[in-house]
Amino acid sequence: MKTLNDFDFANKKAIIRVDFNVPLDENFNVTDATRIEAAKPTIDAILAQGGSVILMSHLGRPKGVEAKYSLQHILKTTSEILGVPVQFAANCIGDQAQTAAQNLKPGEVLLLENLRFHDEEEAGDVAFAKELASLGDIYVNDAFGTAHRAHASTTIIAQFFPNEKCFGLLLAKEIESLNKVLKNSEKPVTAVLGGSKVSSKITVIENILDKVDHMIIGGGMTFTFVKALGGKIGNSICEDDKQELALEILRLAKEKGVQIHIPVDVIAADDFSNTANTQVVDVREIPDGWQGLDAGPKSLENFRNVIMESKTILWNGPLGVFEMPSFANGTIALGNFIAESTANGAFSLVGGGDSVAAVKQFGLEDKMSYVSTGGGAMLEMLEGRVLPGIAAILD
Ligand code: AMP
Repeated sequence: MKTLNDFDFANKKAIIRVDFNVPLDENFNVTDATRIEAAKPTIDAILAQGGSVILMSHLGRPKGVEAKYSLQHILKTTSEILGVPVQFAANCIGDQAQTAAQNLKPGEVLLLENLRFHDEEEAGDVAFAKELASLGDIYVNDAFGTAHRAHASTTIIAQFFPNEKCFGLLLAKEIESLNKVLKNSEKPVTAVLGGSKVSSKITVIENILDKVDHMIIGGGMTFTFVKALGGKIGNSICEDDKQELALEILRLAKEKGVQIHIPVDVIAADDFSNTANTQVVDVREIPDGWQGLDAGPKSLENFRNVIMESKTILWNGPLGVFEMPSFANGTIALGNFIAESTANGAFSLVGGGDSVAAVKQFGLEDKMSYVSTGGGAMLEMLEGRVLPGIAAILD
């Protein structure tokens, strides 16, 4: 696996695919610069060696050229974070980009305009990728968030750098962290899978059954399992057509010696609302008109025992409707258990959309071993797929 360490960047131009798809407010100020900060170590390392840097990214989902999606909006923030002036090319290909790239001196940084202003980016157009490739000497991919897309800048471009291509520090860390869970894991390994639907997590569940000792299944998925096992789930969220699948998962887990842990009690509510009346009930006896919206105290105690004895923990998906404070307790508690186990020496990886949001919201980010930056990309890796952006560098 080639990384920055395999190259000497002195007097070289690195063209780096970064993920600067950051949220902007109505005045186009960056409201969360995490993704820019995440790319800084790679950029700093190259500049420190006397290289120069050409940054390319997408922002949003523009249809053709749309000023509101211009990367010019993030220029100031990027300069501030990198601590150097950042030049800008108002088109990612063509004369302006060529001239700006040619004039770039060691230690300088150039940001290219939104790649998705050209349809060729998402189409994975070879000629467009070649034009991008002509700007730099070494291709670095540091964008995990788009590594599952075979776009021009994430995948196709790599063919124009048969040897001069590598992973940036961020992407390398993502791959290494996932491998620590899926390949070189210390046992016991526990996966916590929450979220709303079995259907969106089924491939992940199937793939990781071979790699874990324990699987905690929580969130809305719980009720499909409980109903399939003959429990009464009231108005709880359920995918009736996935009940057979749920039973099949339980059967497979037994065959593979994986212990499955499902909530035994829940916080039931008489409405899908933060101000609903609530009661703690047995997960198999939820009254009609009530719905389970969070894990109950006995469940949390069980989960704590599993987490505390685990040496490797993967967490994807909340245990309840954490967006409402009344039903956030289970997710917060779980986050705290994982933090405690991590402090005791376990390796913990949090990834995939909502659990990352939860970890950030509850201030637990620094207490996890690694918090992934890629939602869809992370899920696809957990599903056992080879991501095109990663394969293109390994090729
Ligand atoms: P996902 O995108 O599949 O990871 O699901 C995340 C969503 O699942 C969050 O928005 C949670 O509010 C929701 N969720 C978690 N537990 C439940 C539940 N018991 N009932 C309904 N939705 C839930």
